[in-house]
Amino acid sequence: MIYLDYQATTPLAPEAREAMLPLLGGPGGTGFGNPHSAHRMGRQAAAAVELAREQVAGLFPPGGKVIFTGSATEAINLAIRGSAPAGDMRPVAVSAIEHAAVLDTVRALGCPVAELAVNQEGLVRADSTLPDGVRLVAVMQVNNEIGTVQPVDTLGTAARAAGALFLCDAVQGAGKLAPPSAADMIAVSAHKLYGPKGIGALWVRDGLELVPIITGGGQEQGIRSGTLSPALCAGFGAAAVLATDRLKSDAQHVEMLWKKAFSMFWGWNLNGSADQRWHGNLNIRREGLDVGRLMSDIRHIAFSAGSACASGSGRSSHVLAALGLDRAQARSSIRLGFGRYTTLEEIEQATEKIMKATAQQDRL
Ligand code: PLP
Repeated sequence: MIYLDYQATTPLAPEAREAMLPLLGGPGGTGFGNPHSAHRMGRQAAAAVELAREQVAGLFPPGGKVIFTGSATEAINLAIRGSAPAGDMRPVAVSAIEHAAVLDTVRALGCPVAELAVNQEGLVRADSTLPDGVRLVAVMQVNNEIGTVQPVDTLGTAARAAGALFLCDAVQGAGKLAPPSAADMIAVSAHKLYGPKGIGALWVRDGLELVPIITGGGQEQGIRSGTLSPALCAGFGAAAVLATDRLKSDAQHVEMLWKKAFSMFWGWNLNGSADQRWHGNLNIRREGLDVGRLMSDIRHIAFSAGSACASGSGRSSHVLAALGLDRAQARSSIRLGFGRYTTLEEIEQATEKIMKATAQQDRL
């Protein structure tokens, strides 16, 4: 199997797996304590959680706290719902190409929602107009479908100048790019940066108080109740340290793969900007391509038609539509995602297979 779906999820780094194992416990083991228990095993588990918190904090700017959540989707929900006092109906503004975790959540609030358009390159204008009285602006750092890098520092500064909070969904950018500098809240997910699934985090700027959306035992300083998994926290922490240490070398590796892949797909069109982009995301289209057929013809290559979330839900891609592509163009697009553990040989083999299968389609 050649895995080219790094935006959907990434392989677990061996270092993250190692960090998790002692905390999974098992008969005779002592690592499985509840981090919220007062006895020694509990305190050991709590120490592992706090070490992980410090490690994950390295993904964010200074001056904030890390709240562990079950996913980035939960972190985003906490940010959007937890920052609104009950009955607050002031408008929010989001980019038109946000993940469903942001779009569906703001739409559920019942307040006016302004969508900030993107240009044909898939970029939100840095000087987008914000609605009067806006309370929250949410723009992602890197788009999950097309990899475009958004001007979040300028937009964050503008949001603050307008008296709004700025939420950045940094799920696809964390551990790859420098963190957004003008955000009040940043959401990330461990499984997109070579950590385990089932854990995310919300970074909250010091001084900003959130209302809990999950109540119960009062864990995570009362903001997110529920027993934490020390093993997941430790895996996330190790993955975060590794991503920070390897920021440059991972980017260089991805750049080398991008150059190869991009040069091989002649006759295809790139969706989204080539320059303002995380180069581990190659979203391309070819007129008349039957993507479903392509996927069944080359089952040993794992890639995606549009975003994994959009294809899972059967919705057509709102991101490609926002770029101005029609349904046929969107339906003839594929996304190849690669990263730290992808080899040049895998890119070459996969590209050749895809080109061969599409040439066969042309002959039909
Ligand atoms: N935001 C973006 C940009 C994503 O790519 C994803 C996952 O695909 C999410 C949010 C949701 O992350 P999680 O799987 O941790 O809920």
